[in-house]
Amino acid sequence: MSTFQAPKGTYDLLPPDSAVYLAVREAIAAPARRAGYGYTETPGFEKVELFSRGVGESTDVVTKEMYTLTTRGGDELALRPEGTVSVLRAALQANLHKSGNLPVKLWYSGSYYRYERPQAGRYRHFSQVGAEAIGAEDPALDAELIILAADAYSALGLTGVRLLINSLGDRECRPAYRAALQDYLRGLDLDEETRRRIEINPLRVLDDKRESVQKQLADAPLIRDHLCEPCRLYDEQVRAMLTGAGVNFTDDPRLVRGLDYYTRTTFEFVHDGLGSQSAVGGGGRYDGLSEMIGGPSLPSVGWALGVDRTVLALRAEGIELVLPPTTDIYAVPLGDQAREVLFGAVTALRRAGVAADFAFGGKGMKNAMKSADRSGARFALVAGERDLAEGVVQLKDLATGEQGPVAVDEIVVTVKERLA
Ligand code: AMP
Repeated sequence: MSTFQAPKGTYDLLPPDSAVYLAVREAIAAPARRAGYGYTETPGFEKVELFSRGVGESTDVVTKEMYTLTTRGGDELALRPEGTVSVLRAALQANLHKSGNLPVKLWYSGSYYRYERPQAGRYRHFSQVGAEAIGAEDPALDAELIILAADAYSALGLTGVRLLINSLGDRECRPAYRAALQDYLRGLDLDEETRRRIEINPLRVLDDKRESVQKQLADAPLIRDHLCEPCRLYDEQVRAMLTGAGVNFTDDPRLVRGLDYYTRTTFEFVHDGLGSQSAVGGGGRYDGLSEMIGGPSLPSVGWALGVDRTVLALRAEGIELVLPPTTDIYAVPLGDQAREVLFGAVTALRRAGVAADFAFGGKGMKNAMKSADRSGARFALVAGERDLAEGVVQLKDLATGEQGPVAVDEIVVTVKERLA
């Protein structure tokens, strides 16, 4: 029988690479945590209707890419294709917006699922870290989130991440722009499906990646030229704050992003070392989303950064994160008595907060020392019968090869001193 493979479009995270993923998640979340965002976790699946109403009936994410299922009880569920709608649903359900302490600031981290055509940087199961600020309309909040994301990329040492930014207007100015865009698009040579899209969500046509479509869009009207005064001012303030914080950005008047719910500020972080899947993260303001899923008016803003692609960006820039070794001490027993003593020492070390491992499986000295080297530990604890007869074990510095005796009942104290 052949062995099983991970499903198409997915991959497994295993050591040592998995440590890089954890570190990236941590690095993305750290700035948000420092800014008062609290951790949230929502289910991996939700009612299909939440996504079709929230993310939008006209998006590829909903129409083509959702993993849906009918439960035995007859519920129509979907594996979550993105995080924002679920987080907003959770905040509304728990009435967090009624606590009188707006905005509600939340961050999250998890797996998302889209039935996409797999390619480098595009998977059917991928990982995002997200942050949402719910219930406040304030350009400083948009700026805060963008700065937090930019700082996360910088903290990882990335220098090739570019920020693209646009405003999509609001319910005052977008309708007139939408109509002007529809007029323009209806005159183009487009396929059936795209023609339908013009009627449902014409902004999404601007996002069409096909050359044949892009060629025809050169003279399409731009939202920038249709923004109402409040939207224009809002946009200006966001940009001024980014500039004040030293965050560079490029104006992208065509940036609309794939989901229906965005209003005003929209942004995307791209990396040029990733080929066609260049977006490492993105987000924006979604003032109408709460009402779309049955909640009160709650202007909000957020982002989701892709963990997989951030790792690819690190690789593209040749950045090796400096990660702490998983093991500080590696114990190598020679003989049964030594096994007993060193196993006890390893347990005591771990309880004292020292990362320690043990040569399991009754390996010979040579093999065990190889494992000790491979573990990345700084010291090996080695003991044979002669050592134990003298009441000591040998503490060996694995970098220099120097070694000396340590009394058995002083192992924890001595090791902690040497590691400090
Ligand atoms: P989106 O919700 O589409 O704006 O995605 C936000 C971020 O998640 C993107 O910028 C990517 O970094 C990441 N992402 C989205 N879809 C995928 C996918 N299929 N595979 C890997 N990463 C993805």
